[in-house]
Amino acid sequence: MLLEIAVGDAYGAGFEFCSREIINNSNHANGYISHPLGIKPGCYTDDTQMSLAIAELLLENSNPQESDFAQAFIHTYKRDPRLGYASGFQSLLDSCETGKDLTRKIRPHSKRNGAAMRSVPLGLIPDIDQLLTVAKCQASVTHNTEEGILSAQAVALMAHLLIYQKSALIELPKLIEKKLNLKLIGSWSGKVNCDALETLAAVNTALQSNRDFLGLLKTCIDFGGDTDSVAAIACGLAALTREYDSELPFSLLSGLENSTYGYQYLIELDKKLVNNFLS
Ligand SMILES: [Mg+2]
Repeated sequence: MLLEIAVGDAYGAGFEFCSREIINNSNHANGYISHPLGIKPGCYTDDTQMSLAIAELLLENSNPQESDFAQAFIHTYKRDPRLGYASGFQSLLDSCETGKDLTRKIRPHSKRNGAAMRSVPLGLIPDIDQLLTVAKCQASVTHNTEEGILSAQAVALMAHLLIYQKSALIELPKLIEKKLNLKLIGSWSGKVNCDALETLAAVNTALQSNRDFLGLLKTCIDFGGDTDSVAAIACGLAALTREYDSELPFSLLSGLENSTYGYQYLIELDKKLVNNFLS
């Protein structure tokens, strides 16, 4: 799960809000490209780092509260500061030492996709009502809005339904609508802004229209806009279903960063999640 999130994130990071020309020339999913703002090829961004924060917290705390999430977000950023965060939020993280600082300073009024992009690991929570409560709780730290919370719950619930084999891909929109009263659009086209609900529409469209990672990545990037968040969520979800061919493109696996919190770390953490929740 985390490995696929990181590959989608790192691949998409090279294309985030880039020109159509760069997408047309380089969206082949056979290697990473650098982003003009300095993100190096194969390096993941905020989407993966915040997903790591949530995954690690779930392993150590079965009933995490807002303050725990705030602390986890600060902890994972401080131990490994990296590019890719929205600049205002990154400045805020830089100015905080603890989760309490973050909670005190932030104005969590965003309707963007920041709470959804880190919510795939929440799908591991076995009980759906608890999952929805925890998804709301973590979203509230930074995105305490109807859209921010709903998008996080939708991603977490989609992940849960796939992990626990309660839904085929094609049935996901029906089940999400039934539980959350949210229509998942399946015909998105065009640029994805950082908006939470646009992101969900793009993720669902890409997920439904492919069955292998190569095609999925190309579709996510071809939309344009916030390509890394769309690809991170979509790849994280695709990793959870047998309907997707489980092979990631080799060049993307081998090119993923192997820093302290890179390839090997992600694999180990994925194993711990499986052992803790699924065996
Ligand atoms: Mg990102």
